[in-house]
Amino acid sequence: MSGRLAVVGLGPGDERYLTLEAAAALADAQALYGYGPYLDRVPARAGQSRHPSDNREEAARAAAALHQAAQGVNVAVVSGGDPGVFAMAAAICEQIADGPDSWRELDVVFIPGITAMLAVAARIGAPLGHDFCALSLSDNLKPWALIERRLDAAAQAGFAIALYNPISRARPWQFASAVKRLRRHLPPTTPVIFGRAVGRPDECIAVTALETAANEPADMATLVVVGTRETRVVERPGRSPLVYTPRAMSEVIA
Ligand code: SAH
Repeated sequence: MSGRLAVVGLGPGDERYLTLEAAAALADAQALYGYGPYLDRVPARAGQSRHPSDNREEAARAAAALHQAAQGVNVAVVSGGDPGVFAMAAAICEQIADGPDSWRELDVVFIPGITAMLAVAARIGAPLGHDFCALSLSDNLKPWALIERRLDAAAQAGFAIALYNPISRARPWQFASAVKRLRRHLPPTTPVIFGRAVGRPDECIAVTALETAANEPADMATLVVVGTRETRVVERPGRSPLVYTPRAMSEVIA
C-alpha cells in the first residue's frame, strides 16, 4: 500500500495567501501534521485526523508523518510561509535520506507558499528588488560564528538581507549582536524594515535605520529586511514610505 505525503506551505497568515494547490492538498488529506498554531489555521474537516506538535520537534514530526504515509494514508505536513524556507520540506528530505528504503517509494510532493520575506517586502515597496539573500539568525542548528561569517559576507557583497528567526526567549541577544556586526560594513543610515505578523490581524510594519535597529522591538513573528548601500526610502505625504533597492548598481564592492 502506498500513501501520499504533501508538504504544504500555508503562506504568512491570512487565507488569501493560501494557494489553490495548497488548499486542495489540505482538503484531500486524511491526516494533518504540523506545529500547533499552524495547524490551527487549517479549517477542521470531518474524518481528518490532526497531529499537532511543538516547533522544536520537526524531525520526530517528519518521521511520524512519513510512517503514516507508508501505511497508505494521504498525509499533509504544514509549514507557515513556504515549506522550503527554514521549515518542514528539508526535515522531510532528511528523514527520507536516512530512513527505511520504503520511504523513498512514497509519492511526496512539495507545495510552495508565500514566504515571510516576500510578504513583508510587498507591504513596503521593493527592498528585495535586486540581489538579496535570506539568513536565519537561529543558532539552534548552526554555530553563531557561522552566522557572523555569513552576515559579514552578505553585507560585504552588497546583498539586501532578509533575517528570519531574529529573536526568541531562548535567543535574546542574537539580533542586537547581528546588527552590531552589520554596522561594521554598512552605513548607519542603511534602511531596516521590521515586518511583524504580516498577513495577520495584528500586522505591523516599521522602517528604521541600522544605527537604531537594535532598539526596535522584534520577536519570533518578525521578519527583518536589512537594505543595501543603495536602498532608498521615499517619503510620501499621507502615506507610508516606500522602500526600494534599485535595479541598477553603480559601485563594485571589493
Ligand atoms: N517557512 C516560513 C519561515 C519559518 S522560520 C516562511 O517561509 O515564511 C520562522 C520565521 O519566519 C519567524 O521567526 C519570522 O522571522 C518569519 N515569519 C513567519 N511568518 C511571518 C509573518 N507572518 N510575518 C513576519 N515574519 C514571519
